[in-house]
Amino acid sequence: MSTAQPFVELAEIEAARSAIAATVRRTPVNKSPSLSELLGCPVHLKLEHTQITGSFKLRGATNAVASLSDADKQRGVAGVSTGNHGRGLAHAAKAAGVRCIICMSRLVPQAKIDGIKAQGAEVRIVGNSQDEAQLEVDRLVDEDGLTMIPPFDHRAIIAGQGTLGLELLEQVPDVATVLVPLSGGGLVSGVAAALKAMRPDVRIIGISMERGPAMHECLKAGGPVLVKELATLADSLGGGIGLGNQLTFAMTRDLVDDVVLVSEAEIAAGIRHIYWQERQIVEGAGAVGVAALLSRKIESVGPVAAILSGGNIDMKQHHRVISGEDVDVTQEAA
Ligand SMILES: *Cc1c(COP(=O)(O)O)cnc(C)c1O
Repeated sequence: MSTAQPFVELAEIEAARSAIAATVRRTPVNKSPSLSELLGCPVHLKLEHTQITGSFKLRGATNAVASLSDADKQRGVAGVSTGNHGRGLAHAAKAAGVRCIICMSRLVPQAKIDGIKAQGAEVRIVGNSQDEAQLEVDRLVDEDGLTMIPPFDHRAIIAGQGTLGLELLEQVPDVATVLVPLSGGGLVSGVAAALKAMRPDVRIIGISMERGPAMHECLKAGGPVLVKELATLADSLGGGIGLGNQLTFAMTRDLVDDVVLVSEAEIAAGIRHIYWQERQIVEGAGAVGVAALLSRKIESVGPVAAILSGGNIDMKQHHRVISGEDVDVTQEAA
């Protein structure tokens, strides 16, 4: 059983906003003419894929690094993520002059290694699995005093992601429904904590993929369970919520109104629509809100805002998707 922690509160999110203001972008919101027409109500897109490092993960990582003590900052931070959290953490640490070591297994593709290195982190290649890479992080924590910064289940991370909700409310004051890509639940917990504190009537809907929707399965089971990870176009939404989950499970359960799942074909249609109609390049995870709107899975009540959460997609894969090729990643190993 996990020990319950009090939910992240508005005051922590407001403090995070000041802490990250100097180095994190306030991303724009565009009203989508095509989706507004289709849905018969205003549809706004929060262009968070234009964030530095290509995703909102920079918000949480910057706040987490800022909340370390001076002594901890001197010893540095570590993590295992090879995706958007790893990029965000590497960038945030570098901006704060803090050493950052990302450990990864020998199986990680060179493009991901280069993406993390480009943000200024030290990369340590160890073992043949994510678990072995995690052991090296544990060793760095135990022996060298580095601080492990996890991707979602952490107060400062959630508060940092919540700053996106504060911005959104300023940009779309009359928003009624917010569509939030959902994996471990750091983003949706932060955004829901911010919005529900200021506008309790706002509807928050988490969107995951049909293939391996970890938080959805855990909500159904009534607590954290192991969920098999499957290959998906929304690769940034893969992975579990952690069996010892402290915060994001309970916050998602209590603050999020609904969870909607989208298929691989719907995600591809979302990426295509966002490219041809909105002229934006997003990754699969960033397209799930639009995918749900296009497939009419959202009862559209009032002005809607969809968070385009990230843009780090392999450009060859993006090209195949927007050209209408049948892109089936489900045969690949996760
Ligand atoms: C991490 C990530 C998500 C999901 O965020 P959680 O806090 O894990 O729910 C959504 N979209 C993108 C692009 C991401 O990188």
